Amino acid sequence: MTALPRTSTDPMAPVSGVPDLEELHRVSRALETRPATAAIEWAWDRFGDDLVLAASFQDCVMIDLVAKVSADIEIAFLDTGYHFAETLWYVEHVRRRYDLNLRVVSPNLPADDLWLTDTDACCAARKVAPLAKVLSGREAWMSGLRRADGPVRATTPVVTYDVGRGLVKVNPIALWSDLDVDGYVRDHDLPVHPLAGRGYASIGCWPCTRPVTEGDDTRAGRWAGTDKTECGLHA
Ligand code: SF4
Repeated sequence: MTALPRTSTDPMAPVSGVPDLEELHRVSRALETRPATAAIEWAWDRFGDDLVLAASFQDCVMIDLVAKVSADIEIAFLDTGYHFAETLWYVEHVRRRYDLNLRVVSPNLPADDLWLTDTDACCAARKVAPLAKVLSGREAWMSGLRRADGPVRATTPVVTYDVGRGLVKVNPIALWSDLDVDGYVRDHDLPVHPLAGRGYASIGCWPCTRPVTEGDDTRAGRWAGTDKTECGLHA
């Protein structure tokens, strides 16, 4: 098997400044034809403890894949204060099943009604700022972003450089279809989010998430009826 190119001759050398973007691109292209665990292995080998997975817990596919590589990889959950009760139950259920190295980060804000008037400001305070806390001092982060999530994510690479945050970003299941996800959940008997069978194809905060109907984009139920499609985590 051909070894994947690294961004440095020393696999554990810290990334100083902007990494070699051409190398990252080559790594990304090479990983497109490999199993998702190969991307996680590459990132873990390359960044070690400076790697973190930001998990939405709408399913636990990424968590299962990460667990196959190393139980030591930190997993972060952003508790906005507005998650469905079912999501909070699911986080605890999955944490116990996998004995996760889980970090729950909250914005430490009292309940407010910003989501009614300014969803961008609400997401900035309850998602983007807490993620910045999680990523502080890191070199790379992983997410479960997929091209099949919708048009905005249609060109998601497996490995890229998150320019805004100055970090390498790894999306191990970028090329997975909805059927791939469903098949993996079924084949590996993964715990399913209680809302998944009730039309919630993508699950975020309760004020901004609606069930979808057949034929809709996966994320059509997020901020439905507005122009907003992303919360800012993956800008
Ligand atoms: S998804 Fe809605 S409730 Fe959650 S942080 Fe964004 S605007 Fe606020």
